[in-house]
Amino acid sequence: ELEAAQAYVNEVYEAVKKRNPGESEFHQAIKEILDSLVPVFVQNPKYKEHAILERIVEPERLITFRVPWVDDQGKVQVNRGFRVQFSSAIGPYKGGLRFHPSVNASIIKFLGFEQIFKNSLTGLPIGGGKGGSDFDPKGKSDLEVMRFTQSFMTELSKYIGPDIDVPAGDIGVGAREIGYMFGQYKRIRGGNEAGVLTGKGLLYGGSLARTEATGYGLVYFANEMLASKGDSFEGKRVVVSGSGNVSIYAIEKAQQLGATVIACSDSNGYIYDKNGIQLDTVKRLKEVDRKRIKEYVNIHPTAEYFEGCDQIWSIPCDIALPCATQNEINAESARKLVEGGVKYVAEGANMPSTLEAIDIYLQNGVYFGPAKAANAGGVAVSALEMSQNSARLAWSFEEVDDKLKQIMKNIYNNSVQAAEQYGHPGNLVVGSNIAGFLKVADIMVAQGV
Ligand code: GLU
Repeated sequence: ELEAAQAYVNEVYEAVKKRNPGESEFHQAIKEILDSLVPVFVQNPKYKEHAILERIVEPERLITFRVPWVDDQGKVQVNRGFRVQFSSAIGPYKGGLRFHPSVNASIIKFLGFEQIFKNSLTGLPIGGGKGGSDFDPKGKSDLEVMRFTQSFMTELSKYIGPDIDVPAGDIGVGAREIGYMFGQYKRIRGGNEAGVLTGKGLLYGGSLARTEATGYGLVYFANEMLASKGDSFEGKRVVVSGSGNVSIYAIEKAQQLGATVIACSDSNGYIYDKNGIQLDTVKRLKEVDRKRIKEYVNIHPTAEYFEGCDQIWSIPCDIALPCATQNEINAESARKLVEGGVKYVAEGANMPSTLEAIDIYLQNGVYFGPAKAANAGGVAVSALEMSQNSARLAWSFEEVDDKLKQIMKNIYNNSVQAAEQYGHPGNLVVGSNIAGFLKVADIMVAQGV
């Protein structure tokens, strides 16, 4: 039976590869999820009868569009915009927008596919989507960013709405970009539909704790992993990659729980400070000055800067929190982490570990918290922002933070339970994929083809 289920899953995977040639990130995300669903198809033949797998791997809609804009030199530039509306089973499409030169259909589809299961895990009524552009915000002036995002929204506005599709931020899209996009959406619609975007500024419908949510949620999740082994963050050495919104608030919460965060990075290199990173400096450099992390060592000469990002994983540590980008940890880096004595890896970025890296964690007894469970706090608080917008209310920081904590706890417990029930105790990859899948699958069965 197990073999038959595996053969069925392989067949769907091969069909995806054939239909989406060359999209390696999308293939990788599909493979990671499909393989862990094998026990589901053994226990529940109905999902095969309803062709849930064949349907769920095909986006409901993939929109691509031209984004023309004028740079500061008066020259016309053209970028490509994307929105994948992957699954509306549970609720309106929900997921961030990424502005980065690497963005293409494969990246957007891998992110959108992951988002379906992540959003399902939150227990909140949100479907899966994702979008973005190959626009590179690095080195662009404020006015260029504004002109680009306005042009991007002029087209995107045709496809979104508070009950249809609700974008938010991701890499390269923060409060500034959301603000410009919200302004443009409002101009085009001639009405204030607060719930059309999340991650908004606090003065116009944003939620307290949304900025902190992904990083805090990650540490709350990791804390559940630690607690299950009678452990805590107190006195632990933590390596966090990245220095964007996710990293900064993961560092903040880990420090609050008594850990020493000894390294963080940006796309050029990493800093190592054995006494612990001074987070205020990182915040100022990245959020206010928009500078490179390299500058940190000019302010704190006891810290060291290293060019390139791979070697950050050779720093011995107890807990690793990859918060930069997809596939930042390959097999070689995973081996270095194991050699350095890592006990826990929890993912703040989306798909930061390759499939080979994950195998290495699991074979070496590293307790692994996969992205779609561990970083779901961001989108969960986005869903809470939507609730507040619908109710025309604003909750206190504490209220949102308490809800976030409870959601992360539930995701952890549901993943542990599903892993046990389906014969892979302690495997949160299998557990989170199955727990996320079951809800979507049952709704798809209920709602018909
Ligand atoms: N970009 C985030 C993610 O990967 C958040 C999405 C959202 O808030 O809609 O989940």
